[in-house]
Amino acid sequence: MGDCIFCKIAQGEIPAATLWEDEEFRVILDLGPASKGHALILPKKHAANIYEMTDEMVGKAMILAKKMAAAMSKALHCDGFNIVQNNGETAGQTVFHFHIHLIPRYEGDNVGLSWVPGSLDEKERDEILEQVKACL
Ligand code: AMP
Ligand code: ZN
Repeated sequence: MGDCIFCKIAQGEIPAATLWEDEEFRVILDLGPASKGHALILPKKHAANIYEMTDEMVGKAMILAKKMAAAMSKALHCDGFNIVQNNGETAGQTVFHFHIHLIPRYEGDNVGLSWVPGSLDEKERDEILEQVKACL
């Protein structure tokens, strides 16, 4: 993936503020942080989204997210923590190299990750159950 910015950052070709690095991942500070300490977990091997990741790598990424969130919470004294992962433009993905957002939360911050709850219609509920179960 010659033109993928996150490949270049993950592989160390472009410098980035690195919180953690091992053979498979680099964790960097986001250049446009939602809050103080907002960081990104990047796999060194390119995958556009979660569906292109192996199960093993998804597992490792989530374990790393837990480790980072625990360390960052301790270090930054935040009040809560969001672990977010976007797939597809409609879901807010803007860089098409898998990444996990690590977003420390502080009381009174203006991070917008909320939505207005709808309602679960019975007919729709049954359709969803049938449709999703058929694809598992
Ligand atoms: P997403 O919208 O889920 O694809 O997230 C992309 C994230 O990457 C955004 O939070 C951007 O601020 C961040 N970002 C884009 N380019 C860079 C970069 N060169 N270094 C660090 N973070 C970046
Ligand atoms: Zn890439």
